[in-house]
Amino acid sequence: MKISLEENIPAARAAALAAAVTKLLPGTRVRRAGFALEVSAGRPQAYAEAVPALENLPGVAGVALTTGELCPLACARPKKAFSAPLPFSSGPVFIAGPCAVEDEESYLSNALALKASGAHALRAALFKPRSSPYAFQGLGWAGLPIIRKARRLTGLPLVTEATDTRQVARLAAACDILQVGARNMRNYELLKELARCGRPVLLKRGLRATLTEWLLSAEYLLAHGIKKLILCERGDSLPSSGRPPLDLKTLAAARKLTGLPVLADPSHASRDRALAAALARKALRAGADGLLIEASLDPLAARVDGSHTVSIETFRKLTGK
Ligand code: PEP
Ligand code: MN
Repeated sequence: MKISLEENIPAARAAALAAAVTKLLPGTRVRRAGFALEVSAGRPQAYAEAVPALENLPGVAGVALTTGELCPLACARPKKAFSAPLPFSSGPVFIAGPCAVEDEESYLSNALALKASGAHALRAALFKPRSSPYAFQGLGWAGLPIIRKARRLTGLPLVTEATDTRQVARLAAACDILQVGARNMRNYELLKELARCGRPVLLKRGLRATLTEWLLSAEYLLAHGIKKLILCERGDSLPSSGRPPLDLKTLAAARKLTGLPVLADPSHASRDRALAAALARKALRAGADGLLIEASLDPLAARVDGSHTVSIETFRKLTGK
């Protein structure tokens, strides 16, 4: 932790501040470095609780914690590698499917085609967080028998999004991986509930979330007991902002800092079929551990996100199958 001091603070005042910091954070080491105090060997909870009081001490200009201090579990290395239910140790992993489960016939034919084209897991979204209350919200629980059938038919694991704490237990009983969507990266009660569900969790980076905010959400899951965690970069959905659609620098930094598998979602990042395919390749070249991608037999007929859903042929080219 670095406590910046006001410039030209008298030496006696700085020494008094160092003593005050030691009192607020017993057991830590406090070292003066120019117009700053460097604090080490504190526990994350003690740091978090002391920050408001430290910021209010006269003579303190600011308090900053490193990512490692804020997210000690997310940043702890080495991490235990895992390869079930997704084979992360044998090359890029592909989770694919339509944006939403729409009906049994289309979903099952998609599931079979995706398996034959190299998918390792199926997108199996029953609950869709939509910006408009009038847009298709997903089949909800009515879709559960359909995704169960797809799992039996293909043997592929199911990845589904929980949009609310009340869905978690029932979705965890039927699906293999639970997804936290971009809108819910900051839904801390949902993260706590998911951490206890007994299934791996796939955590997307929230819209305009910084690397630290993303890792803090990962920290919530880890602090509350999650055993297997996958991250997914999905961009900021700001096509006109001049920012790249996928933040591959943040993806690489998240991989390096955490040692967790980090996927890319080129679909929601691009909002355009052709761009999605190009972004998918770019993300894999940049070291993504795999893709979460919208792909189906008939993107033009999709009720949701058809404009950025790639065809099965394009998907097969990506997997190389
Ligand atoms: C999704 O992957 O189904 C989804 C809703 O994406 P996001 O949360 O990234 O918007
Ligand atoms: Mn979608």
